[in-house]
Amino acid sequence: MQTNVQEEPLESVFRCLRCGTCCRIPGIVRLRDADISAIASALHLTEEEFIARHTDLSPDRTCLVLKNKEDGSCAQLTPDGLCRIHAVKPRQCRTFPYEWRNPDSEITCPGLRTAYAVHSSESQTPSEKRRQP
Ligand code: SF4
Ligand code: SF4
Repeated sequence: MQTNVQEEPLESVFRCLRCGTCCRIPGIVRLRDADISAIASALHLTEEEFIARHTDLSPDRTCLVLKNKEDGSCAQLTPDGLCRIHAVKPRQCRTFPYEWRNPDSEITCPGLRTAYAVHSSESQTPSEKRRQP
């Protein structure tokens, strides 16, 4: 669930640094039917081929997820830290961090850390700043 900790829209203060950290954190990327169709088409695969080669069943058995590497990172992450399917990446990836975040996202994502640090600094009045230790 998204947590609003600032008044400015996140879209106006957040910049993704393309560090790939969020793709390396162990977890799952859930796939909707539209994601499967778009990614399969981009990879010139049938949906059946894409599902067989690139997906697993989610741990709760409710949907398909992208395969992970052995270290828990996303299998679509290239060695140089980019998304192999960027143009058609799943909705879960496209909507982070605007529509959803994990409780620790403000720690793990440097883009969010920067956004909050800048916002926090700019939003303080001089007297508020002086009260800092
Ligand atoms: S961790 Fe944050 S800054 Fe890094 S790629 Fe992911 S969204 Fe962008
Ligand atoms: S699909 Fe792309 S953006 Fe999404 S987790 Fe995998 S590498 Fe990252």
